[in-house]
Amino acid sequence: MLTSVLGRQFTRKFASMAPTMHKFDYLVIGGGSGGIASARRAAEFGVKVGLIENSALGGTCVNVGCVPKKIMFNAAMHAEALQYHKDFGFDVAPAPFNWAEVKKKRDAYIQKLNGIYENNLNNSKVEIIRGKAMFVGEKTVEVNGQTYFGEHVLIATGGRPSDPGAPGAEYGINSDGFFELEHLPKRSFVVGAGYIAIEMAGILKTLGSDVTLMIRHEKVLRTFDSLISDVITDELEHIGINMLKNDGFVRATKDDQGTLTVTTKNGHSISGVDCLLFAIGRDPNVELDLDKTGVTLEKGHIKVDAFQNTSAPGVYALGDVCGRALLTPVAIAAGRRLAHRLFDGKTDLKLDYNNIPSVVFSHPPSGSVGLTEREARDKFGDAAVRVYRSSFAPLYYALSERKVKTHMKLVCAGDEQRVVGLHMVGQAVDEMLQGFAVAVKMGATKAQFDDCVAIHPTSAEELVTMR
Ligand code: FAD
Ligand code: NDP
Repeated sequence: MLTSVLGRQFTRKFASMAPTMHKFDYLVIGGGSGGIASARRAAEFGVKVGLIENSALGGTCVNVGCVPKKIMFNAAMHAEALQYHKDFGFDVAPAPFNWAEVKKKRDAYIQKLNGIYENNLNNSKVEIIRGKAMFVGEKTVEVNGQTYFGEHVLIATGGRPSDPGAPGAEYGINSDGFFELEHLPKRSFVVGAGYIAIEMAGILKTLGSDVTLMIRHEKVLRTFDSLISDVITDELEHIGINMLKNDGFVRATKDDQGTLTVTTKNGHSISGVDCLLFAIGRDPNVELDLDKTGVTLEKGHIKVDAFQNTSAPGVYALGDVCGRALLTPVAIAAGRRLAHRLFDGKTDLKLDYNNIPSVVFSHPPSGSVGLTEREARDKFGDAAVRVYRSSFAPLYYALSERKVKTHMKLVCAGDEQRVVGLHMVGQAVDEMLQGFAVAVKMGATKAQFDDCVAIHPTSAEELVTMR
């Protein structure tokens, strides 16, 4: 009798000590663009969904990416527009820019978005689990001492800025640090030649910082069509950015007075830098003890097939952690398709990674969809490729002295002249691209572009009137 009472007590005590296994139909690791989209879509199909996030909801895009970046780009666009006010009859004096005020409002806006994301997840009945997930077994993770199992597990943990690992790099910041800046730097030194370096160098310069941009080669944005790479490299110089080309970062030093000096491979020494910004790519967040669940990597990223399946059955990955097309809408689209495939019976659904449009919010912006001219020539052969170009000063600059040209290129292939690539740089092309990307995705031909009556007077009309 006594033994059985003790036994019961022991069992109760043991049960209260044993970690409870929380079980879900779908367990999503990462509350960023891809994770949230996939979790909410899955919940629509009535499955039990848990989402684990160890930082602010919304991930990179909302907190330290697209959203705060676009706000700063918009601030820079206002600064740019001010230059043309006089030409349109507004006799306005140069207006001082209050970075701190914009940052305060921007931070409040992002905080509001964090709340909206939380509400949306709650409304969708997705259980939010706060903390860092580490795999402890097959399809099983631990978060703050609790164990969670998912019949299906999604890894959408994104990435982080690459570490330059160079002497004195600790005096610098990365794109995350850019969003912590409380004041407009007087003198900025930006290292990098991709999306982030170009966007941030442009924002800093347009808002009034003295900017040096150091690139390793002759041109920026080298993975884009030569039209974009050439024009943006020129425009960066045009707006007054000091370009150090074919160069390399050697070191940054700080003297006793706290003055920061950057030295480059070609012997340049830029002193008085108060913002050293590295934007040299991003590394995936894969430190999750992935071997415990049998997920393998390829070139440092999580290896997935076309359906976002990892090497472990029942474990999927998408978004930046997979290293392909690091864009928010890509992570969202892959996440939603995966949810439909797993829980909505759409067993063949997957994201088509071809013809993904993207915009670099440069000054002026650039937009691109499909193959570059080089890629098209390599794929179809020179004889099959025909390229149409247009360069013009948009009517926006009709009354202004400084005219920033718009450049457009259509890359067509085959007898039917299918538009396989569309590239442009210029005022408002960022808002022009989406609709044309639909046409390219649908396989439109040059004749079909031309068959669409132009909208006049716009810059976009050039795309349907090129000869
Ligand atoms: P993320 O959004 O990064 O989400 C991953 C989440 O996982 C994070 O919240 C992270 O905290 C969490 N996490 C990581 N590890 C764990 C763990 N072990 N446990 C729990 N949680 C974890 N894209 C565009 O399309 N347009 C733009 O204009 C644009 N601008 C950008 C500007 C900048 C400065 C940067 C850095 C990126 C920009 N991007 C832009 C890219 C875009 O932000 C990313 O492609 C997108 O956020 C990727 O989504 P994701 O879901 O893969 O990862
Ligand atoms: P990117 O891959 O776009 O560009 C990084 C570039 O930096 C490299 O291509 C390289 O150019 C250069 N680089 C690399 N290492 C060094 C080094 N040691 N010294 C100097 N330069 C170096 O990465 P980002 O960090 O700019 O952005 C990451 C991703 O985020 C982007 O690829 C994009 O997918 C996404 N993003 C999207 C945006 C948008 O949609 N508007 C905006 C911002 C980010 P090179 O080889 O020519 O030297």
